Amino acid sequence: MAAAATHLRLPPLPTVRDLVKLYRLRALRQLSQNFLMDDRLTDKIVRAAGRIRNHYVCEVGPGPGGITRSIIKQHPKKLIVVEKDPRFLPTLELLQEASKQHTDMKIEIGDILTYQLQLGFQDAPKMDWFDAPAPIHLIGNLPFSVSTHLIIKWLQAISEKNSAWSFGRTSMTLTFQKEVGERMVATDSHPQRCRLSLMCQLWCKVDYKFTIPGKAFVPKPDVDVAVVTLEPLKYPLIDLPFKMVEKVIRTIFNMRQKYSVRGAERLFPEELRDTLSTRLYQLSDIDPTTRPYQLTNEEFCRICYAYKVICEDYPEVRDYDSRARKIKLSDVE
Ligand code: SAM
Repeated sequence: MAAAATHLRLPPLPTVRDLVKLYRLRALRQLSQNFLMDDRLTDKIVRAAGRIRNHYVCEVGPGPGGITRSIIKQHPKKLIVVEKDPRFLPTLELLQEASKQHTDMKIEIGDILTYQLQLGFQDAPKMDWFDAPAPIHLIGNLPFSVSTHLIIKWLQAISEKNSAWSFGRTSMTLTFQKEVGERMVATDSHPQRCRLSLMCQLWCKVDYKFTIPGKAFVPKPDVDVAVVTLEPLKYPLIDLPFKMVEKVIRTIFNMRQKYSVRGAERLFPEELRDTLSTRLYQLSDIDPTTRPYQLTNEEFCRICYAYKVICEDYPEVRDYDSRARKIKLSDVE
């Protein structure tokens, strides 16, 4: 009885492996498709997301539906699946039909990078940002190139509290290449510390949950896979425009092995470089010889705030981008 209350039993269905064979769903290299067929692993990914029952879920890249089944078993109120490859429509429709008594499942054939999450969750309750996390989860085993791009896009949406984050603190459970997962959680002085570590940790609580060996996927990718959860912080460590923070962190990490001031100098036009980089480090009260990867999250925040003060005094600096060697408004808007 207790098990029935927490787990939904789906009617007998062919296994994911059988469906892949039946519909001849050969993995496409150009979409970096690697399927998970083992339901103990897909269950484990979904468990990492926390409570799903009666919550709203968007699964990105469901493919033949292994993780989708594990989500449905947890009895969500609504499940939206966004899949780019239309060949998976029949297998997803099968799951939609099998779960229709319990779950409102919507299938979107499209690209998650352009999908408007706020439209999918229209009927979800709006939570105050400072309340408990929103009853909304984004879950997905995506190609690595897409998940890294997506997380940056979603971090910006978190910082601006739009898209899925207009409903409150929506959480994410996503897969990444193992090394990328390690970078996301790397703290100061960790060998993997990089721009991504900072960007994730300034806005989210990031947890490296577990590693899935490459051999668990069909076909097997060359690398192992990290399952990472991100929960937006009630109080982000920084309250500055995402693009400004991203520019400061990127510019400083461009010279990862040098004194951090060497990278920071590139934030300023040549004629002001010495004066303003010295001022930046004085204002932030940081030793300029600290290497970028040694700086703590809090020290990076102080540099960003000091940069903002300098931009107020020297408006031309705000739009300066050493890579473009000219003023680029789009970088700061
Ligand atoms: N979730 C399935 C699993 O774990 O077995 C499939 C995982 S496979 C690594 C990635 C899936 O994401 C594929 O089904 C692929 O077609 C889909 N995909 C790739 N790029 C996408 C995008 N931009 N938007 C939505 N889906 C995408």
